[in-house]
Amino acid sequence: MTIGKIIDGKAFATGLRDRVGDGVADFVAAAGRKPGLAVVLVGEDPASAVYVRNKGRMTVAAGMESFEFKRPASIEEDDLLDLIEELNHDDRVDGILVQLPLPAHIDETAVIAAIDPAKDVDGFHVVNSGRLATGQDALVPCTPLGCIMLLKDELGDLSGMEAVVVGRSNIVGKPMAQLLLAENCTVTIAHSRTRDLASVVHRADIVVAAVGRPEMVKGEWIRPGATVIDVGINRVADDDDDGRTRLVGDVATAEALAHARAITPVPGGVGPMTIAVLLRNTLVAAHARAGLAAPEGL
Ligand code: NDP
Repeated sequence: MTIGKIIDGKAFATGLRDRVGDGVADFVAAAGRKPGLAVVLVGEDPASAVYVRNKGRMTVAAGMESFEFKRPASIEEDDLLDLIEELNHDDRVDGILVQLPLPAHIDETAVIAAIDPAKDVDGFHVVNSGRLATGQDALVPCTPLGCIMLLKDELGDLSGMEAVVVGRSNIVGKPMAQLLLAENCTVTIAHSRTRDLASVVHRADIVVAAVGRPEMVKGEWIRPGATVIDVGINRVADDDDDGRTRLVGDVATAEALAHARAITPVPGGVGPMTIAVLLRNTLVAAHARAGLAAPEGL
């Protein structure tokens, strides 16, 4: 039995961040200012606070300006919209990211719609999702763009391959399917109403799992030689029963390795790519706003 390869997303992300850092130096020389990323955090969710702290640290490490705006969970929607409007008009800000989820009394769709599409480095605005779906230049959601980078690095030309995306969220599943389609894959999107998921997944040369259910995709579902991208991040109790927890993906990795050609681990696969692509998107947005040609090699 052959054992598949573990795709080192952490190493790829480090390389991408280095290339972004070089691109930032070129941008500063051409534009006379640093690219700037504004991150808005509403409420006290500890996981979101950690993400925001990491984003700020890596933004600065890449040579960019980082602006952080923390607001209480009780903020009124109008006040949040006012802050976004301010950031839309702030010339130092090339990218605006509102950390999700937002408290229940705030309409996430309205908040995303308020972001200037040219600064929408998360790629969630309908202008950017529409541009992606119609094959135009767009700011593309970070996680699926990171997945496609890993896939192209691993497989080269994806043209003609059968791809199955499990999950249809606006953040991961749908943009992932659009990106695979743009690479000329034959794409199936599976979801909670899909019948016989095992046999749908078994058709795939490329499986992308973005479900949010620990180890739901079983090893025997994977077609021999397929490449598996595991987007899921699930915290589960440790096997030792000592009260500790660990992270697992949506794929039963150890089982899947007996069938797959290659697979992304959790942690250390897709996760590190997301922040690296966020920095990449901020640099791309900065170039477009400054009227400079898009940076190459990113
Ligand atoms: P959502 O909860 O928004 O979407 C989950 C999708 O999975 C839905 O489309 C749902 O179908 C589908 N689904 C649920 N149960 C099943 C099932 N039994 N069989 C088939 N499909 C099912 O999640 P996200 O897309 O936001 O995130 C998915 C996972 O990726 C999560 O674990 C999240 O933590 C992780 N994630 C990781 C990131 C990273 O940086 N690595 C970034 C973003 C997310 P339906 O639409 O029918 O309900």
